[in-house]
Amino acid sequence: MEATHERADVVIVGSGYGGAITALRLAEAGVRCVLIERGRRWPVTPAGDTFTTQVAPDGRAAWLDTKSPLSEAVFDKYTGILESFEGEGTTVLAAAGYGGASLTSNGTMIEPLPRLFRDAFGDSLDYDEMHERWYPEARSLIGCSPIPDELYASPFYESARTFADQAAKAGLSVEKVALAVDWDAIRGEADGTRVMAELLGLNLFGVNSGAQRSLDRTLLARAEATLRVDVRTLTDVTGVHPDGAGYRVEYRRIDETGRVLGRGSLTARHLILSAGSLGTTRMLVRARGTGALPDLDASVGSMIGNSELVTIRTGMPENNPGQGGPSAILVRDTENPHAPTAMLNFPWVDAPPGVGAIAAIGASPSPPAGSYRYDADSGEVRMTWPVDDPRVRRMTDAMHATLDKLNAANPGTRTELTISGASGNTVGGVPLGLACDTAGRLHGYRNLYVVDGSLLHGSSAGVPPALTVSAVAARCAARIVPTIAADTGRYGG
Ligand SMILES: Cc1cc2nc3c(=O)[nH]c(=O)nc-3n(C[C@H](O)[C@H](O)[C@H](O)COP(=O)(O)OP(=O)(O)OC[C@H]3O[C@@H](n4cnc5c(N)ncnc54)[C@H](O)[C@@H]3O)c2cc1C
Repeated sequence: MEATHERADVVIVGSGYGGAITALRLAEAGVRCVLIERGRRWPVTPAGDTFTTQVAPDGRAAWLDTKSPLSEAVFDKYTGILESFEGEGTTVLAAAGYGGASLTSNGTMIEPLPRLFRDAFGDSLDYDEMHERWYPEARSLIGCSPIPDELYASPFYESARTFADQAAKAGLSVEKVALAVDWDAIRGEADGTRVMAELLGLNLFGVNSGAQRSLDRTLLARAEATLRVDVRTLTDVTGVHPDGAGYRVEYRRIDETGRVLGRGSLTARHLILSAGSLGTTRMLVRARGTGALPDLDASVGSMIGNSELVTIRTGMPENNPGQGGPSAILVRDTENPHAPTAMLNFPWVDAPPGVGAIAAIGASPSPPAGSYRYDADSGEVRMTWPVDDPRVRRMTDAMHATLDKLNAANPGTRTELTISGASGNTVGGVPLGLACDTAGRLHGYRNLYVVDGSLLHGSSAGVPPALTVSAVAARCAARIVPTIAADTGRYGG
């Protein structure tokens, strides 16, 4: 198998929120780039069968694995949509596909409360600047809006309404959450012109109705329409090395079963890593450990955080089966004795009948207590999340306190189950202002950038991270794109 070697002015690795926003801004500035993505494209088909679902999951659920922590099923290996990376104390769920986690996400786009944002980012970012400029820009780029009244009033969202009513009785703040969802497509699900997906809570492995405003259908489509973005899917980056005035990105090309079709490398003058908290951090920790990038800051691999807890309460009025999704209601408990919490009702596809169950996903500001390290003996990167750290336990206590408030205010209801241990909301690993400057330029290396969820300081300030990752990415792109445009213009881009 002969390896191919190419050159490019700019390479981006990863097509999630960070990679998509950067690719679009580069393309708008007239800069050509190569966008490398390990996963496949997931075009929504008219037949509505693009993605597997929680009902009978197959290999499309997991990245080159025969199982998923989210189901009991065993299947053939495939380049499926979610990688499960087992760390000590937690499993990181990371998306794989053109569009990153926007393909599989619950779609909630939430701005953190000012105090919690400041606690999470310290002096590295100014909340007022983020609130006035970058959060609005992120919302407008992604396109998100709360559930329209008539849908919310429909039988499909009975469980969301019950959740909202119960939270209001408990004195908690209740709001409709902005969602990256095409509501007309959801109306189509309701009137039978599209396959049912979101309305049955089938969004974990992708949304077959096309209701998800995933990046492949929005920002990446806009970027590709400029003809300045050369997209390479099913291309898995295996290493990064300095090479002359730039960086050599080594990759393997794979088919949909993971079979290696070929290997190659691209040498880029500017390299932007947007492979997500797991992908980027793993790449950089390995590069530092193997000596490929020895001058990376000691903070690379640190400040990992993860605060997700799935909760199930029972004893409620019987709800609509399927519990229409995505999550429509955000409940905040800012007066919690342990720590503030935020909870979202969460569609539960196979909720058992007769017990009046409602699931919710809770979050609380997480401590930056996790870390990645390179294990030279095995050549693997390992992750640790200290479950017994009092700061981690405090988050769980906080969420139980909110559940207790809900139960106390709604007699007959109780907490049946809380599940932690696997989360898609892990952030951090390349902390902004420490491992790099506040525009994502890595310390120790010229023209090497990180633009994705690794930049967060192990916390997305008590709410799910996608909007904050996008706002930070928009801010980074506004700073690095002009420099890259000037440089590639000068060097013949
Ligand atoms: C199942 C799930 C549901 C979620 N729901 C929500 C939600 O409702 N609201 C919310 O705010 N947040 C949610 N999140 C979290 C949020 O989506 C992420 O924080 C956000 O997508 C991070 O964006 P990113 O740009 O850092 O990376 P990602 O979106 O993770 O994208 C990284 C991309 O890089 C690619 N990549 C990784 N390694 C390599 C490699 N070696 N070579 C080539 N490509 C590579 C990956 O395949 C992926 O496509 C969810 C996450 C998951 C997994």
